[in-house]
Amino acid sequence: MFTVRVLPLVLVSMLAACGRQESVPPAVQSVSASQTPATEASEPGTPAVVPYANMPKIAPIGVRIDKHLDVPESARGPAIDPAKGYRLQDLGDGLYMVTEGAYQSMFLVYDKGVVVVDAPPTYAAKLPAAIAEVTKNPITHVVYSHSHKDHIGGMPTLGGKPIIIAQEETLRLLKRDNDPDRPLPTVTFKDAYTLNVGGKKLELSYHGNGHEPGNIFISAPKQKVLMVVDVVFPGWMPWRRFAVAQDVFGSIAQVDKIGSMEWDTFVGGHVTRTGTHADVAVQAEFYRDLKAAAGKALSTTKPGEGVNPQDLNNPWAVFDDYIDRVVVQCVDTLTPKWQSRLGGYDVYIWDQCYSMEQALRID
Ligand SMILES: [Zn+2]
Repeated sequence: MFTVRVLPLVLVSMLAACGRQESVPPAVQSVSASQTPATEASEPGTPAVVPYANMPKIAPIGVRIDKHLDVPESARGPAIDPAKGYRLQDLGDGLYMVTEGAYQSMFLVYDKGVVVVDAPPTYAAKLPAAIAEVTKNPITHVVYSHSHKDHIGGMPTLGGKPIIIAQEETLRLLKRDNDPDRPLPTVTFKDAYTLNVGGKKLELSYHGNGHEPGNIFISAPKQKVLMVVDVVFPGWMPWRRFAVAQDVFGSIAQVDKIGSMEWDTFVGGHVTRTGTHADVAVQAEFYRDLKAAAGKALSTTKPGEGVNPQDLNNPWAVFDDYIDRVVVQCVDTLTPKWQSRLGGYDVYIWDQCYSMEQALRID
């Protein structure tokens, strides 16, 4: 699991020049000509050929050590036809999921039209073609999961004048944003709304702030499908900082809420595939481990310990050093168990630990 770290020769000679040869680890002594790293003549910004010495195995924010960890099989979704650029998944009784591998949306076909749920700008221009694969019916309704542009900013490419349904907080936020790419909802609700069209049904409900105010649960009871965007990421590390949750513990509570509900297929709005109850349980377990690891690191790390005495009159420096050491401990605690269980673990684990230590201290 641990790769032998080899110091670039330039660093070895620097250490030697400083008279600190004795601090060079044994691995360096055995560098052979064939192992000589090719970093000597590399330009700034060129990726390292070998890991840097004394860097954490998981690269901290802003640092790249090496290629990211392999994506585990459990995080990979079905192949996407590159000619189409999206994948259509039949969820039963007229309901379909569309994805291009990073974002997900749905549409529901009924006798006279189509209800679209979200229009991510990454592939919204292809949504009409995806819908045309199964029906010639027009788009009559759009449901917004929430106000964020990366999930609904592709609206202009859908055309027409559909009825747009959203939670009332989403209307408030979109009025503020005043963005022509995100037309205002024409129908809003506070707690719950049932859309009945031609015998097909979507149940929309609001469970409070987590990811952001107005983010709703979208249930298709007959198809046993639940869609909640930016809260659960089947097979994957959540996007950075609890998927930029405005209320970290609200978002974690919604993971448990999702796990307690009845459905067979989960649509999370992101990444490669739909989810199962097992996926939701894995994310809940990861969040429990993350909370425990950050909590223990906060309680066992001493502020100011090891800080340069000349910096002790700088409270920001003292606290930044404290938080950094808390987060290093948090990452080191979680890595052995989780690095091969979640796709993209190493990409965002530092973000998650920084976000959790902050939430535990101030929320
Ligand atoms: Zn969002």
